Order: sequence, then structure tokens, then C-alpha cells
Amino acid sequence: SLMAFQLPPLKYSFNALEPHIDAKTMEIHHDKHHAGYTNNLNGAIEGSALEGKTIEEILSQVSKQSPAVRNNGGGFYNHSLFWEIMSPDGGGEPAGALADAINARFGSFNEFKAAFSKAATTQFGSGWAWLIVDASGELAVTSTANQDNPLMDISPLKGTPILGLDVWEHAYYLNYQNRRPDYVSAFWNVVNWNEVANRYANAKS
Ligand code: MN
Repeated sequence: SLMAFQLPPLKYSFNALEPHIDAKTMEIHHDKHHAGYTNNLNGAIEGSALEGKTIEEILSQVSKQSPAVRNNGGGFYNHSLFWEIMSPDGGGEPAGALADAINARFGSFNEFKAAFSKAATTQFGSGWAWLIVDASGELAVTSTANQDNPLMDISPLKGTPILGLDVWEHAYYLNYQNRRPDYVSAFWNVVNWNEVANRYANAKS
């Protein structure tokens, strides 16, 4: 039979991102929320023509699929990216080609941070903020509702996500309650710029 999607293991411990993201939030977020999206995605595609396709293939034609595929396929992909673009050794600023592209597109790293933070704090309700590489190879900041993402054909602004921030309340409420801007501010301390740079290089190639 075809391989089902697997919940990717965290590459660091639940408490590794403290004090910026607390251990209990990480445990519930990964072991309950992400596991749920993964299991529900597998259930939604079982026995269908989507079995055996990559998640990118599924998301690129998600307008033809059920809400369960859209919501859980997005949830599976988005969280898989999210764990990877954070690290206990994160923070600071990007270097190399990614830094050059951010400076060219946004003016400076701080102006990029402001644009991304605004996208994250102003996304109404549940959703995600993104830094993407669009079809012309340019960087752009955007946000999406619920578990949508810019890989989806239904997304108004399409591209390859290289950085994403989960702004669902389940991502921060235990530690930050209603203070989403404080969570967004703390996020910069754990961004794994090496991973973001790798994703930028892959998206450009
Ligand atoms: Mn989440």
C-alpha cells in the first residue's frame, strides 16, 4: 500500500525554545495539533487518487478537493515547515544571498521584520504570516487564513514559503494569552536563518 504522511519528529526538545515559546505549548502543538492534521489528512485521502502524491502536488490543486484535504493538508505542510524554521540556536539576522535579497526587496532587515510582523499581527483570527519566493523569484510577505498557504491554487498570492509564523491562538495562548504582538516579537529570537536560506536557495533554483 502507499505510504501515508508521517508526523515529522521535532529536532529539538519541547523546552528548547524557551523562554520564547514554552514547552507545554510546543508539546501540545506538535503532539496533538500537528498529529491531528496529519492523521486527518491521511483519513481524507485514503482510497482516493491523492494517495501517493506529494503534499506540494495536493496543495497545488486543492481547489478541487474537500475542505478536509484543504484544512488538514495545509496544517500538515505548514507545521512541518514551522518546526524546521525555528531552532534553539536561532535568532540574529540572515546572511549571504538571502540577506541581499531581503535588503533589495524591503530596504533593510528591520523593514522586512516590520512588514512580516505587521502581516502576523493583523491577520484577523487564525492563520499564518509568510515570507515567500514568488513565481518570478522575488520575495514577498503575505498572510493566509486558517491552514491555507501560498502553495495552494486558491491563494491570492502564490509562491514557495521559506518562512512562516503560526498565529493561531493555540500557538501562543498558554504563555502570551491575547498578546499576539509579544509572541510575534519573541519569534525573531528563534528563527533558524540557515534553514530559511536553504529554502530560499532551493526555491530560486
Ligand atoms: Mn498550529
